[in-house]
Amino acid sequence: MARLIFITGGVVSSLGKGLASAALGALLQARGYKVRLRKLDPYLNVDPGTMSPFQHGEVYVTDDGAETDLDLGHYERFTGVSARKSDNVTSGRIYSQVIEKERKGGYLGRTVQVIPHVTDMIKEFVLADTDGLDFLLVEIGGTVGDIEGLPFFEAIRQLHNDLGRGQTAFIHLTLIPFIEAAGELKTKPTQHSVKELRAIGIQPDILLCRTSHPIPEDDRRKIGLFCNLAAERVIPAMDLDTIYRVPIAYHQVGLDTQILKVFGIDNAPEPDLSRWEDVVHKVKNPEGEVRIAVVGKYIQVKDSYKSLSEALAHGGLANNVKVHLDWIDSEVFERDDAAAFLENVHGILVPGGFGERGTEGKIGAVKFARERQVPFFGICYGLHMAVIEAARNLAGLEGAGTTEIGNPKHPVIGLMTEWVKGNQVESRDADGDMGGTMRLGAYEASLTPGSRVAEVYGATTISERHRHRYEVNTGYAKDLAKHGMDVSGWSPDGRLPEIMEIPSHPWFIGVQFHPELKSRPLEPHPLFTSFIAAAVRKSRLV
Ligand code: GLN
Repeated sequence: MARLIFITGGVVSSLGKGLASAALGALLQARGYKVRLRKLDPYLNVDPGTMSPFQHGEVYVTDDGAETDLDLGHYERFTGVSARKSDNVTSGRIYSQVIEKERKGGYLGRTVQVIPHVTDMIKEFVLADTDGLDFLLVEIGGTVGDIEGLPFFEAIRQLHNDLGRGQTAFIHLTLIPFIEAAGELKTKPTQHSVKELRAIGIQPDILLCRTSHPIPEDDRRKIGLFCNLAAERVIPAMDLDTIYRVPIAYHQVGLDTQILKVFGIDNAPEPDLSRWEDVVHKVKNPEGEVRIAVVGKYIQVKDSYKSLSEALAHGGLANNVKVHLDWIDSEVFERDDAAAFLENVHGILVPGGFGERGTEGKIGAVKFARERQVPFFGICYGLHMAVIEAARNLAGLEGAGTTEIGNPKHPVIGLMTEWVKGNQVESRDADGDMGGTMRLGAYEASLTPGSRVAEVYGATTISERHRHRYEVNTGYAKDLAKHGMDVSGWSPDGRLPEIMEIPSHPWFIGVQFHPELKSRPLEPHPLFTSFIAAAVRKSRLV
């Protein structure tokens, strides 16, 4: 049976618990273990699908079509293990399942309570789908002491009891702040946070302490004394120059060794971290730099485009260049001359998005890229903007638009109500539940032999993840092709355009899916590798 490692957080949020969990997963994997990561989110939304990116950052979509927390993106990027629906749950979903069961009489008339019914539902979720794993890492969202988080903490406390010795480990991530005025690190917040954890019955096995300064040995001993653990289990997690160094740094301070000791394992093979060392070397020694403009709507909140910025960095790794991102609010192109913002960039990317605001600005950015021969990458809504731009300015279809916004004269982007997945017809209707009406998850596409994308992928069948309602209207495909924009990827049934490109342009590709979700530092996505390569070529021209 899989051993369980629970990762909780204390003192403050945003300490990078997701990244820490992901890096530990990668580290155990580098020792030859089979791992999977899972996230328990205490908020009441049933899933993050309907939450604003301004509030919650990106929605990470899995192959099996779940809309999940962005930490699952970290997990995938660090371990290469594709996340599944069964890897993320919220209080909202747990409670709705409990209530549904109650309504169906599933509790046989008993009083339904947080303990044991909600906690049982959480435990069931944690233990499901873990066959063949050596370690399951389970991150609890939020920080200890949050009211909403209590049932999760209680459930993992129970699991420790249920499963017996040697099956579970608790890691608590805390902050050791450095107080400038005193010139010292302070351990008190950590002591308090652990006290809180112990009050609900959880004794951490390991403290992972985020800090900007090395923790003196005396302080480690003191923390250990107050928090009831050995000094070597108080592990410093120093701020680092690049996230890709985290697995290496954790190994250097003994995190994996100590975790394995908690499970009574002391003869594990040393991890092979050469691939991570290679990535770090590339990050630290780029041979050049390219500037990419990302023209979007949620640019104030960088987490809204987490996978995207990571994927662009991976494209840089593959080309040995640093990728500098200019985040530009598309609305500026509705006010000012776009050229001033885009004059010096080597590539323009319009990412996914929803709704009307800023769309005319995005269309302006596409026009600039197309006319000025700047490499252009459109993702999902970015593809829609590119098609609208081409329809209006190449094919002369005045009033071309998307039915997502009003009722355009030429609906070059429209709602598809039916499509085929495998052998099954799936459908949606325009008035369905929010979150229930999207085309979600992995779908195959067939690429046109000889097209640029077929060359980029080195394949003619691909699978990519989707999250959208609207599609390119095939009724306009012939007209667009006549004016230089081709469909170069189709759904296998030939009904839905998946990729459009302009063959006469140095690099102009729009995709209906989200390739950024599948890019990994150890395996950069071919589209991002190729886009950055085109930007490198552009940078040599200007
Ligand atoms: N708003 C568009 C749609 O729903 C695009 C979605 C996206 O970019 N993810 O089809």
